[in-house]
Amino acid sequence: MMKNINVKVIIISVAGAYRKGKSFLLNFFLEYLYSLNKAQSKDADLEWLTDDCQLHGFHWRAGVKRDTIGIWLWGEPIMIQSITGEMFAVLLMDTQGTFDNNTTYQQCMTVFALSTIISSVQIYNVVDNIQEDALQHLSLFVEYGRMVMEQPHDFGKPFQNLVFCVRDFKNAEEYDFGEGGDFLENVLQVNETQPDEIRQVRELLHEYFEDIQCYLLPHPGYKVAERQSFRGHVKDLRPIFREELKKMVPNLIAPHNMKAKMVNGKAVTCRKLVQYFKEYANSFDGESLPEPQSILNANAKLICIEAAHEAKVNYCRGMDRSTYGTRMMPEKKLLEAHIKHGITALNIYDKCPKIGSKEVRSLLLEKLQEDINAELERYKRLNEAKRVTGCASAMLACGDSVFL
Ligand code: GDP
Ligand code: MG
Repeated sequence: MMKNINVKVIIISVAGAYRKGKSFLLNFFLEYLYSLNKAQSKDADLEWLTDDCQLHGFHWRAGVKRDTIGIWLWGEPIMIQSITGEMFAVLLMDTQGTFDNNTTYQQCMTVFALSTIISSVQIYNVVDNIQEDALQHLSLFVEYGRMVMEQPHDFGKPFQNLVFCVRDFKNAEEYDFGEGGDFLENVLQVNETQPDEIRQVRELLHEYFEDIQCYLLPHPGYKVAERQSFRGHVKDLRPIFREELKKMVPNLIAPHNMKAKMVNGKAVTCRKLVQYFKEYANSFDGESLPEPQSILNANAKLICIEAAHEAKVNYCRGMDRSTYGTRMMPEKKLLEAHIKHGITALNIYDKCPKIGSKEVRSLLLEKLQEDINAELERYKRLNEAKRVTGCASAMLACGDSVFL
């Protein structure tokens, strides 16, 4: 993983109510990505979902017992090369939950919100149709989107790709299976009888998501839906279902179609990912409904952390340059260099977009100042070392430089 630390990530998530084939769907993504990875590394043609193939990976189950509510990431990123030659780490995310009763509703809303924020492609899995309650669940993002757009920033829309995936779609006479742009347009039409909140979702969804798509999938066949004995054999799938999946999956994640996860206008790398997960997870307590304001503050904190990191790296680079050499420099000169590079660092920090609460910004500014002062002490010690033992130890100490 170390060598992949600066690789950009793509995160595909599937969310929606319980027992509607989400985990099952993700296994098609796994099958596609692993086959693609294999084909790319052998420079061979891609073959996937063949007759003899057996799907496995994410746990899907027949029955009504509910698994724990939560978010599951596939155990490893799958490395895929895009058409431009750039490597991406693709992560698959499974969510579990149901919106069926009050106690779990809030937890499920949290899982839904968190997975939408973290992913670059959120597949919203529904059955038969896109009902009003499915749209209702999206109102949180509309509210959050509005808050982000009101802030001074220049990093585009807050969310990336939303894909409605309608399972067991029955109205195939009116709308063909596969990409269902017309169907979605129809669902998102506004009229006066709709409640305000849901009308706003309809009106504003496109403003806050970069891309919204819809796929209408046929029934997968009785062997999948009714038998406990389905073991993932592709030949047991209804052929029309298999054909639609063969089109849908690459449409969302083929090498010519890869877009990195973006947060605050910057591509997310493996290095930053863990920090992002932590900040966002912290902003929800899971007990109450997620507030748009706390998502905004988590975002603000991420922007500040990023800017503070850049500022500190810049300071250290400047100080490394100014103190380069084997001779000790007068303390006055060292302090002059510190002031010069310190001011540059604070300017870098100050340039970060000012969204969210002021407190977050000033807290991280304080931390940056402390870090820079600690660095100054280190440069002083390095300087001293040049007096005492000359070049050898100074060079050694330099090797400890603190770049993260
Ligand atoms: P999840 O709770 O949403 O992750 O649902 P699962 O993936 O665990 O699937 C629940 C059950 O639905 C399993 O028995 C699957 O075989 C079955 N299933 C999967 N996809 C479909 C589908 O498109 N239509 C129908 N009717 N059943 C499906
Ligand atoms: Mg599941």
